[in-house]
Amino acid sequence: GLMSQVVTRFAPSPTGYLHIGGARTALFSWAFAKNQGGKMLLRIEDTDRERSTEAAVTALIDGLKWLGLDWDGEPISQFGRAARHAEVARELVAKGHAYYCYSSPAELEQMREEARAAGKPPRYNGYWRDRDQSEAPAGVDPVIRIKAPLSGDIVVNDHVQGQVVFKAENLDDFIIMRSDGTPTYMHAVVVDDHDMGVTHIIRGDDHLTNAARQIIIYNAMDWPVPEMAHIPLIHGPDGAKLSKRHGALGVEAYRQMGYLPEALRNYLARLGWSHGDDEFFSTDQMIEWFSLDALNKGAARFDFVKLENINGHY
Ligand code: GLU
Repeated sequence: GLMSQVVTRFAPSPTGYLHIGGARTALFSWAFAKNQGGKMLLRIEDTDRERSTEAAVTALIDGLKWLGLDWDGEPISQFGRAARHAEVARELVAKGHAYYCYSSPAELEQMREEARAAGKPPRYNGYWRDRDQSEAPAGVDPVIRIKAPLSGDIVVNDHVQGQVVFKAENLDDFIIMRSDGTPTYMHAVVVDDHDMGVTHIIRGDDHLTNAARQIIIYNAMDWPVPEMAHIPLIHGPDGAKLSKRHGALGVEAYRQMGYLPEALRNYLARLGWSHGDDEFFSTDQMIEWFSLDALNKGAARFDFVKLENINGHY
């Protein structure tokens, strides 16, 4: 029924071209939405005003279009939702789940030193967590921090990684709003995914620790946590981090090298997902067969020879 319609999203930061890893994330989010008769949304994560550019937005959109990936509705600008991010932060403060923190850079550095000396990961010590606001120093613009649980576990139930357990003691009261009134990535993503009705988050496993922190925000707002699938990053043929020589290029570079969009789509699908031993499949077949449970847990290895072979097939 309507309640259970699947909504996925692709949420790139417009700081460069659509790279091969991002293209694969988009492809999986798209294929899963299509498989489920759901929707995929495109959210441009442009809150970092220094690094975001219009040219990158255009490059991302052109890359997706060339690859044949479409999305539902208009692309959504995260920056355009700043007022909503601030509103939720204020709500969290009002509910006692977040607080204003006035600690100076020197004080923060001292806290990190103390944690290090005690053999603990550097963390904020909760100084302003339960302190009266009347003690606030004059003329300091505070950040807003979320009250992370002090003990116990935060569990990420992931379609690819399984049950991943994070110890609360390793996650401190992280910042959700900066002192200039802008939201952090951690906060904006949760508010947006919630408001857009995202049911399934598919993204790189470099976001797994972020997922644990984001779950703290979901819980504080009493919002349901979306299903998650954190896919292993693409590595080079030697298992090392993907380098330019080994394929860490923008989709546009593949287009210029003469690869066909169908071939790249087919090849990217196989990087981290499989359907039996099938090597070639049409987009319709991929949509029909796609499932999160068939995503591979091991790191995918980019291989130009295989891509070449698939390209020759089309
Ligand atoms: N904007 C983030 C990135 O490009 C992705 C955020 C997400 O998928 O939650 O890495």
